Amino acid sequence: MRNALGLMLASVGAAVVIAAVWFWTASPRADLAVAATVSAPPAERLAATASAKPVPIPEDVDATAAILAKPPVPPQPKTACANPDALGVSRVVEIDTMGGPGFGFAHFKQLDFLTDKEIVLTFDDGPWPVNTPSVLKTLADECTKAVFFPIGKHATYHPEILKQVVAAGHSVGAHTWSHANLNSKKMNEQQARDEIEKGFSAVKLALGAAPSPFFRFPQLQHSPAAVSYLGSRNVAIFSCDVDSFDFKAKDATQVINSVLTKLEKSGKGIILMHDFQKHTAEALPVLLRRLKAGGYKVVHMKAKAPLQTLAEYDEALVKDMKLPVASTRPVNNVVQTVTE
Ligand SMILES: [Zn+2]
Repeated sequence: MRNALGLMLASVGAAVVIAAVWFWTASPRADLAVAATVSAPPAERLAATASAKPVPIPEDVDATAAILAKPPVPPQPKTACANPDALGVSRVVEIDTMGGPGFGFAHFKQLDFLTDKEIVLTFDDGPWPVNTPSVLKTLADECTKAVFFPIGKHATYHPEILKQVVAAGHSVGAHTWSHANLNSKKMNEQQARDEIEKGFSAVKLALGAAPSPFFRFPQLQHSPAAVSYLGSRNVAIFSCDVDSFDFKAKDATQVINSVLTKLEKSGKGIILMHDFQKHTAEALPVLLRRLKAGGYKVVHMKAKAPLQTLAEYDEALVKDMKLPVASTRPVNNVVQTVTE
């Protein structure tokens, strides 16, 4: 009994000593790391970390005082990622869309800006209930960013969802008004222009702000006339390097396998998926984990300046939608429960 008690006391004593040593050695560095990560933008963070290393830390109080004595850094707009193992964003690139550059080796091979293992996530055909919010949640969980190409009509159906896409910091371009094939023989040049411009105006109407001058042709059907028109409008054209064919997938596993297999061959590139598709939304959590495990790095493409939509299309769209006057009244002012 006495031996057992002695052993217990000795164990507790040892635990206290270990805890005390850990606290003394770990806490000053933990303080430094948090201060640097939260308050400094990436470039300054590197400088802070580098300069912090050789400084001797004699006592906790001195180290804390030294940090507090630094001039205050203005708060950063982006919150830190809560997931330490997130896929994240390795690089943000700003795109000057002057002249309508083309991206994605399926059609355009001039601008080879991605290095090995670099990928760009892109999503077409939204915004759509359930699937788009699910995609947004997965991207947020992985602290990563994508480019969205919504359909104009869908943007008018679900403007509140499209607003969430922009609010989360993703780039939003357009994908025509009605997902028409602009390379079809039935489509004349004016009709193709109308599809493009009305699509952008619809996205603007939904967002209450101009979209990025980023465009993707439905079904990747590039008509030469529309390509040169987009050039004259200084709109970048997005093809892709990896076409997931997720709209043909029978389940989430097929989406995952399709992307990973094609990506293994290309080694990098712009990945085309659809936030409109249920299987894609379901596949995304596992797919992003697998991309992270495979060493892939996400590049976020941002436009240098927003698109100037054409006033005639903005105005025509508002007219077309023929919103009734009553729609401005609150719902409980219009609809009252009288019996239950
Ligand atoms: Zn599409």
